[in-house]
Amino acid sequence: MLEKDIEKILVTNEEIVAISKRLGKQITEDYRDKNPVIIGLLKGCLPFMAELIKHIDIYCQIELMGVQSYHGGTESSGNVKITKDLDVSIENRHVLIAEDIVDTGKTINVVKNLLKYRGALSVEVVTLLDKPSGRTEDFTPKYIGTTIPKEFVVGFGLDYDEFYRNLPYIGVLKPEVYNN
Ligand code: 5GP
Repeated sequence: MLEKDIEKILVTNEEIVAISKRLGKQITEDYRDKNPVIIGLLKGCLPFMAELIKHIDIYCQIELMGVQSYHGGTESSGNVKITKDLDVSIENRHVLIAEDIVDTGKTINVVKNLLKYRGALSVEVVTLLDKPSGRTEDFTPKYIGTTIPKEFVVGFGLDYDEFYRNLPYIGVLKPEVYNN
């Protein structure tokens, strides 16, 4: 049903699983004995975070934060709104933020600074997708799944107008979908 709206697939589900395995292994090595808190940014992080944590084999905790940066369209609004705050203190904790995509870098910079201000020992970022061509802020995630060109993508957590998050892969929509 949803597939008819997709022009092309950029990252297949098999590739996402392989990426998650690679990143999970690296995170397992880097965070051994650090008991990190992995904080997912809602809602886009959900499928990636669920896949990633299956491949992390250390003591860690999972938390979620609601952050909104796009408001229905395909361009970053520049405003970052916290829609759901953390339920726990992250003071003196190693924090790993899990993101679906880093585009301008605004969202991640705001959240990173907030968590540092609240006393986190370290704050790093793992993102499934990186779109470096969209960057307006100086930021490079420590863990990157794969780099994509400057295109608006949907699927595996990423939405257009809150739809398509449930696609099992990352794809580009047909132009007529935007024009409807
Ligand atoms: P940034 O603040 O880095 O510009 O944007 C990060 C957020 O914008 C992501 O978490 C995601 O919600 C949204 N975003 C950025 N690029 C895309 C994209 O290509 N497709 C979708 N669906 N959302 C995107």
